[in-house]
Amino acid sequence: MFNVPTRKPDLSRRSLLALGGGLAATTLAAPSLITPALARAPKAGVQSPYFYRFAFGDAEVSVVSDGPLPLGDPSGAFLGVPKEEVTGMLTRNFLDTKNVVLEQNIPIVNTGSKLIMFDTGMGTSQLFGPTTGRLGKSLSEAGIKPEDIDAIVCSHAHIDHIGGIVGKDGKPLFPNAEVWLSEADFKFWTDEGKLGSPLKAFIEHARKNLMPVRERIKFFKDGEEFLPGVTAIAAPGHTVGHTIFMVTSAGKSFCFMGDLTHHQVLLLEKPAMEFAYDTDPKQSAQTRIKLLGMLADKQIPVMSYHFPWPGFGNLARAGEGFRYYAEPMKMLL
Ligand SMILES: [Zn+2]
Repeated sequence: MFNVPTRKPDLSRRSLLALGGGLAATTLAAPSLITPALARAPKAGVQSPYFYRFAFGDAEVSVVSDGPLPLGDPSGAFLGVPKEEVTGMLTRNFLDTKNVVLEQNIPIVNTGSKLIMFDTGMGTSQLFGPTTGRLGKSLSEAGIKPEDIDAIVCSHAHIDHIGGIVGKDGKPLFPNAEVWLSEADFKFWTDEGKLGSPLKAFIEHARKNLMPVRERIKFFKDGEEFLPGVTAIAAPGHTVGHTIFMVTSAGKSFCFMGDLTHHQVLLLEKPAMEFAYDTDPKQSAQTRIKLLGMLADKQIPVMSYHFPWPGFGNLARAGEGFRYYAEPMKMLL
């Protein structure tokens, strides 16, 4: 309470103002005893832009996202290991045991002479829900124009990697880009003969995205440096022509791993575990063990499509498998 003057009030302008201030303070203070005080500003309600940029050798890498891809219950996707073991691995790593969420990290490398994008996200497909299909928005947040992309390099022709090549209307979104893919994957995933099989949605989406750019598709070969500083390494199993890429600039290399491993814990701690979406799960596991071992032993940094945002880090051998060490984000270029 403010002090009630006992003497006759002095009604000068100055004292009225002082009195008013006191009244205002009291009226505002009183309700705060029963309702929480309001912050000076409302909650922002928006997340920061979905891109991350870093220098690598003489190149500049901008990772953009197509948005999170929820796989759902891990028992539907990660096979060959008892359910309790998968739950235990997720629990020990403070991860949701009921819903495994993968990121879709798309690195765009500016080599100085070319702007090269690796994989393209789900595009218009809502097979994994509404959080995917964000590539266009992320590109604009990163200040990258679709017409400036010189090349799109696809690790394989699965729905979440080739889905962003065309828009809703079926028209190519990157008018000046050549599209690189393995010939084996192109043939497998555009095969109309498989439209009656459980792969139907994948075949349809691959055809929707690849056929309109058929004239611009080029095939790389295992071991070939098909773009300056970009070398293909065959990594079959996840799909018949699945490929990972060594990206080299000024004597430094990192590996874009595509879907060599989908999860930073499950398929690293136990790389022999099988993944439901593998075309040949046994071959996929062998490839994973061999190539992850090579990357760990040579201490080659990795860029992973599905690891936690933004997906850049290092691998080391640990126990019967591997451990991923995310590189701290550097917010100064
Ligand atoms: Zn994938």
